[in-house]
Amino acid sequence: MLDKNVINVHIHHFEQATTVPEKSVIIVGSGPAGIATAMSIIKMAPALANDMLVLEKARHPRHKPCGGGLTAFADQTLDELGLRKRIAGIAVHKVRFLLGGRPFNFERENLMRIVRRDEFDADLVMQARDAGIEIREDTAVHDLIRREDGIVIESSAGTFKTKVLVGADGANSLVRRKLVRESDTRVSRLLEAVIPLARQDDQNTAIFDFSAMRQNLRGYIWEFPTQVGGKAHLNIGIFDSRIHGGPRANIRKLLSDRLSSHGFSNAETQIEGHPERWFSPRGIYAQPNVLLVGDAAGIEPWLGEGISIALGYGPVAARAIRDAFATQDFSFSGYRDLILTSKLGKLLNRNRRVAGLFYSRPARPFLAAFGRALAIQFDLRKHSSFHLRRQHVL
Ligand SMILES: Cc1cc2nc3c(=O)[nH]c(=O)nc-3n(C[C@H](O)[C@H](O)[C@H](O)COP(=O)(O)OP(=O)(O)OC[C@H]3O[C@@H](n4cnc5c(N)ncnc54)[C@H](O)[C@@H]3O)c2cc1C
Repeated sequence: MLDKNVINVHIHHFEQATTVPEKSVIIVGSGPAGIATAMSIIKMAPALANDMLVLEKARHPRHKPCGGGLTAFADQTLDELGLRKRIAGIAVHKVRFLLGGRPFNFERENLMRIVRRDEFDADLVMQARDAGIEIREDTAVHDLIRREDGIVIESSAGTFKTKVLVGADGANSLVRRKLVRESDTRVSRLLEAVIPLARQDDQNTAIFDFSAMRQNLRGYIWEFPTQVGGKAHLNIGIFDSRIHGGPRANIRKLLSDRLSSHGFSNAETQIEGHPERWFSPRGIYAQPNVLLVGDAAGIEPWLGEGISIALGYGPVAARAIRDAFATQDFSFSGYRDLILTSKLGKLLNRNRRVAGLFYSRPARPFLAAFGRALAIQFDLRKHSSFHLRRQHVL
């Protein structure tokens, strides 16, 4: 059990040692990973809750390139974090995989939902504030300096000091680049565009089209229904996991071709790019006084699903932080093992292995067979008493 006295004594000593504003825990980034970590700290280490600060460079609602696809796993994690699903988005009742030249349809009420990330993230931030979490927006962290007793943070709103720094600052994480240097690059590439839909039908189907694997794409093109300003739109994007080396697909051309098939040219469509970073069991996720969560750490490279994963990091990081204050050991040397043995780590590892196999060249002739196996498994589960809320993606 966490000893509140130990934490309070520690906080007191730490406060005396410096003159800059300081907190026991500072989280950089208020996306799903940062908010999930803060909410989990409130639950698991309430003594730290009033001595925690979230720094965010943007102001919510802020733009984030993202398909906004939320699976049942994401909703289950939101429930566990005590976060309400106030932004319903669009319910998807049919998911179509195009695999090995064949369509596979998976149909069930509320199979997944599609949210706009600006609305979804802003609502999570509002809920976190209501829970008492201090979040400073318009505060960009631009430098991080390690000191013997913690980390000094230079930001656009001045200098802060913290005993524990959580890097929840996304795929291009400054925290990772400055303090958790790792030579390994595990970066997926994504492009997306949002186009208006002339027809309002089929607003409840999401498409994952793997056909471009024939052109060396180790990923898929997605088409997700979405709403912008109350009007039906399509979020179309391309995910290149890059889990294997070798020749790369021309993802810009592949996306342009898909947009053309919907009657949109490059000139009239804004295409946005943003990377994702994927998880490896051998990766480095912590240094003394520093932890990474969400995209800053790594997500899964099969479907590139990152929102649920970002949320799932919260309880794992909070547990590591609670234990660090209880034992006064801030090395975080056990953080990777904590991730690996958690529900999140098992999912990350499973999907990393699936991605490795699925996107390998020798697997290509068997993709249709994989689709059939997936469809059979889905039907069995649909008709059994197995509780679907435990499912990830399908
Ligand atoms: C094109 C695209 C489509 C995607 N589609 C899906 C999808 O459909 N479903 C899904 O589950 N996942 C999807 N993902 C992945 C998903 O968007 C991410 O995994 C998720 O946003 C990770 O959350 P996070 O909190 O770790 O990081 P982010 O959401 O990136 O949040 C990081 C926060 O840190 C802030 N920040 C960054 N640097 C600093 C700094 N120096 N100082 C202060 N604040 C800082 C940022 O402003 C931001 O608010 C997609 C990703 C991309 C690129």
